[in-house]
Amino acid sequence: MRLVLVGPPGAGKGTQAEFIAAHLSVPKISTGDIFRANVSQGTPLGVEAKRYMDAGGLVPDEVTINMVRDRLAEADAADGFLLDGFPRTVPQAVALDKIVADMGAALDVVLELVVDNDEVVRRLAGRRNCRSCKKIWHVEFDATVKPGVCDNCGGELYQRDDDKPETIEERLRVYARDTAPLVDFYGAQGKLVGIDATGTVEDITIRAIDALRSYGS
Ligand code: AMP
Repeated sequence: MRLVLVGPPGAGKGTQAEFIAAHLSVPKISTGDIFRANVSQGTPLGVEAKRYMDAGGLVPDEVTINMVRDRLAEADAADGFLLDGFPRTVPQAVALDKIVADMGAALDVVLELVVDNDEVVRRLAGRRNCRSCKKIWHVEFDATVKPGVCDNCGGELYQRDDDKPETIEERLRVYARDTAPLVDFYGAQGKLVGIDATGTVEDITIRAIDALRSYGS
């Protein structure tokens, strides 16, 4: 299955992508994760991406599209994939259709995680990530026993620069302007399926898997 996950920052795309990809036995490809890995390794791509990420903006389409094209050319993505955080603009969506068509395939479904703005702000502002095992915690909804320390592996928790309050606002503005139009884009293709992304992580995963069932998952 070739699947795209869309939704505002903080909708839980990363968390759900993990479970859904495992359920479908396809690789999870997260552009945010790839950018962050490049930032922490200090690659030229990382240096360029960081400028945009820290400001809550989007990395330019050309850079992002080339990166995704290369990733989708890897062997593990030949028979299916789950894209998390890409596309984020209509030009990226148009480019993705072309990349997938060149693979002799087409996207099967676009799953939209629906959640309102107030909830998104609460989720993002409290989000904490483990430096070591990458698990995502929340100071209010999924707190660790010891603040700042991962229950899973003892690693140090940190707050993403782009989860700081001033940047959250900008990310939401960018989402409304650049990414929300994808809902219409994929709706017009008849590929969009929306699910309520509030409630427990488990409930949302069940809803997502149910929604995908009619697409052969
Ligand atoms: P995420 O982890 O998906 O929230 O992504 C973190 C940041 O990486 C975003 O705020 C953007 O700056 C950048 N980014 C991730 N995916 C894309 C994309 N498809 N297009 C442009 N920028 C992206």
